[in-house]
Amino acid sequence: MARILITSGPTRQHLDPVRYLTNASSGRMGQALAEAALAAGHEVVVVSGPVEVDYPVQARVVPVISTSEMLAASLEEFARCDGLIGVAAPSDYEPVHVEPHKIAKTGQPLILHLVETPDIVATLAAARRPGQWLVGFALETEDRRFRTVAKLQKKSCDLMVLNGPQAINSAENSVEIIDPFGQVIAEFSGPKSDVARGIFATIQSRLIIASNP
Ligand code: C5P
Repeated sequence: MARILITSGPTRQHLDPVRYLTNASSGRMGQALAEAALAAGHEVVVVSGPVEVDYPVQARVVPVISTSEMLAASLEEFARCDGLIGVAAPSDYEPVHVEPHKIAKTGQPLILHLVETPDIVATLAAARRPGQWLVGFALETEDRRFRTVAKLQKKSCDLMVLNGPQAINSAENSVEIIDPFGQVIAEFSGPKSDVARGIFATIQSRLIIASNP
């Protein structure tokens, strides 16, 4: 039995008390992967941004709002886990300043100064212990495989799941699983529950059994 961390859902970066930047993500793929991992007999911790979906009751859920909160919670949980499935869509940018009061409209354009948020998967990969494995997701619209392999290498993942914008908020998905050599080792399409079972079976045979022979 492995203990698996799943990051899931979007994060929010507030501009002021009422407005925020976010990413389109429902948490449905994370929910389906949590179900697949539990069904295979593993223990699951989900660190999730704000979502409408319900995670399985057997999973421990750590709710977070911002990318830095997701990073802090994930670092803490990953230390006690065997592997990570990074299926969250954390907001990649945050404002340099968060206004404490609601920004009033002036009739003029509003210029936002944004900086990149920390990359959660890459930070966890840098903190990994021997034997821990990491699977990331990439959502790409062009040069899909090339960009996915580049991301896998940049984030030091063991596998990367490539999907497209059709995945967002949809009940279905179509994915390819890419290994560190850029090979497509599996493809799955259909309802997210079926796709999650396929992805998880690949993780099980390639990473979980491989690290516990
Ligand atoms: O670089 P990009 O966001 O496209 O990479 C996607 C992968 O990186 C996903 O696994 C996503 O969960 C992860 N990611 C992250 N922290 C971020 C941005 C993306 O963990 N700030």
